[in-house]
Amino acid sequence: MSRIEIIQGDITESTVDAIVNAANCSLLGGGGVDGAIHRAAGPELLAECRTLHGCETGRAKITKGYRLPAKFVIHTPGPVWHGGNTGEEALLASCYRSCLELASENGCRTVDFPSISTGVYHFPLEKASKIAIGTIADYLNTHPEIERVRMVCFDVRTERFYRDALAELG
Ligand code: ADP
Repeated sequence: MSRIEIIQGDITESTVDAIVNAANCSLLGGGGVDGAIHRAAGPELLAECRTLHGCETGRAKITKGYRLPAKFVIHTPGPVWHGGNTGEEALLASCYRSCLELASENGCRTVDFPSISTGVYHFPLEKASKIAIGTIADYLNTHPEIERVRMVCFDVRTERFYRDALAELG
């Protein structure tokens, strides 16, 4: 589907309506892409996040983008991989769906995602990429208001898995 694109890059540099943050449930910052987004957005982002009182795994909350080129940040805590028998796959799909629902509600037409849960949360990349692409494609099929969704992959290995998952979609 042409409304989904895969690129390699740093999501803090994305000039889009909304970038997604692979956050933790505290929403108070962390390592990986979360740390990079907070560093680039500045302390105002953490101040707004403090007012949100956390977020459940698989759900999402939206803030402004502050010093980022993106207008909004959509924060979603992905599931930690515990072997696959604790609802991880459904929770990961829920992350992508919840973020896109918030994007629609807030008039966002362009949304960039990082590879949620495949860093320190250890979700297997092949499974994660198929769930991400499948969930995004399903959403876009019924939501024409979203013009483009990109997966912003930090490294070539991650990019390869998402490209394969998108190719499988046909
Ligand atoms: P999680 O805790 O959800 O696993 P991580 O931040 O550890 O989140 O990793 C998620 C993905 O984000 C990994 O593929 C990691 O390489 C990637 N990542 C880290 N920094 C950035 C960035 N600045 N832009 C895009 N992706 C990033």
